[in-house]
Amino acid sequence: MISVAIDGPAGAGKSSLAKRLARDLGYIYVDTGAMYRAVGLYALRAGADPADRAAVTALLPGIRLRLAVVDGAQHIYLNDEDVSGLIRTEQVGMAASAVGANPDVRAFLLELQRETARTGNVLMDGRDIGTVILPHATVKIFLTASSEARARRRWLEYQAAGRPESYEEVLADVKQRDEQDAGRAAAPLRQAEDAVLLDTSALDFEQSLAAMKEIIQKRVEGL
Ligand code: C5P
Repeated sequence: MISVAIDGPAGAGKSSLAKRLARDLGYIYVDTGAMYRAVGLYALRAGADPADRAAVTALLPGIRLRLAVVDGAQHIYLNDEDVSGLIRTEQVGMAASAVGANPDVRAFLLELQRETARTGNVLMDGRDIGTVILPHATVKIFLTASSEARARRRWLEYQAAGRPESYEEVLADVKQRDEQDAGRAAAPLRQAEDAVLLDTSALDFEQSLAAMKEIIQKRVEGL
């Protein structure tokens, strides 16, 4: 079974690229960020501070997550409620980043993530896939871009969706999330030693996609 681990900071294009790649290669796409977002959403709804470790840990037994592909798109269910759309906000993204610093949350999601990788050829995107979740992944790619390039892409997506956030707000969030993700003690964002680094600051979507395909094909053909 082939596993492709794609890690990198928020807004590097991981999920849109991974989704397309998975479709082109016929692999299962696993968006681990959606799992952290669902836990963050649950904490917010419960009135808990996502950064309060004890409070969030106490909520974990009440959380059941399930991933399913509906009409070719990945959906995430939180206690049987489809929250795929609800988790795509800056507020939930920040909550996801806060709960992601909690080692109990990471342990809670680790098994689910590993289990999913056993179901077939997967392309999994996140922050610690190559370093912690799938240390023996067939291919590891660390996808990055400058914070300005990443904020601009996210902001354009928001604009297209008619969302009100300003570029400055999105950039500030990107920077804050980078600090939180790279600075935390539990599974901080870092490039695995055997990961291939791909900086997409100057690449458009199709160019990034081609570069990733080349990295994957080289590695898979070499097996
Ligand atoms: O990728 P996405 O923006 O959806 O992730 C939301 C947050 O979840 C990230 O900022 C990160 O803090 C956390 N996360 C993580 N480990 C992962 C995936 C996401 O800590 N594997």
